[in-house]
Amino acid sequence: MLRIVNKKKFIRGISIIIAGIAIIVILMVIMIKGIISLFAKAEDGAEETKITTLDNTIQTYSPSTIQNTVQTTSQTTSANTEVLNEWNLKLVNKNNSVDRSYVPELEELDDGIMFDKRAISYLRSMINAMNKKGITKVWVQSAYRSYEKQEELFNRKVQYYKNQGKKQEEAETLAQTVVQRPEMSEHNLGLAADFNTVNNEFEKTKAFEWLQENAADYGFILRYPKDKQEITGITYESWHWRYVGENHAKTMKEKGYCLEEYIEYLKGAESV
Ligand SMILES: [Zn+2]
Repeated sequence: MLRIVNKKKFIRGISIIIAGIAIIVILMVIMIKGIISLFAKAEDGAEETKITTLDNTIQTYSPSTIQNTVQTTSQTTSANTEVLNEWNLKLVNKNNSVDRSYVPELEELDDGIMFDKRAISYLRSMINAMNKKGITKVWVQSAYRSYEKQEELFNRKVQYYKNQGKKQEEAETLAQTVVQRPEMSEHNLGLAADFNTVNNEFEKTKAFEWLQENAADYGFILRYPKDKQEITGITYESWHWRYVGENHAKTMKEKGYCLEEYIEYLKGAESV
């Protein structure tokens, strides 16, 4: 009897334990499932955020935005094209020649020295301002030159090198670093003024010092600076000053650009 009771108790006990284990297992499974689903949700969430971010990015570069950007750029370019075609910004160097048909309307500065009629008042004002500051030893030695005159100067320089034993081609190359070929000289534009003795002695004068400081206010630039010889292709000329207009001259001075660099900067479609 006791054994039967004990057996019954034993079976009940076992059943309870089994049921307990089963419940624990079921609970654990539910918990694990819950945890897994939680993680999955969190990952989904992350994915969603990523997709949203991507969406935003795509929206930022939507076709209309791109079109706007392109439109702005092309507008700037066309505005710069107009600026680049300004008479006072004409670039003349060994790669950019002046058409022989281009002869500006000239006005006499002094004793046969001719300058572009549109710019001569700025040259006069600049010289007057220097005189007022007590700088009186300053004069324009050379300004506008006809193509024929330039040709004559160039050939004379070629001959000078040939006399030193150089061959024609070499003599021309050497001459070109000092005197520009006809159609390739700024003097053909009537916008360049050579001061005093037309050599680098000018660098030591008060006039040069004053010009470096103030010429931009009158629209003039030092056209062939010492540190830009590689770019201009012309040896340093402290005496040669070029009219480009006040705004351009000031920007060039501020940015430290020579004319070649400034033209490239304008072509780069940056706003002016
Ligand atoms: Zn010159």
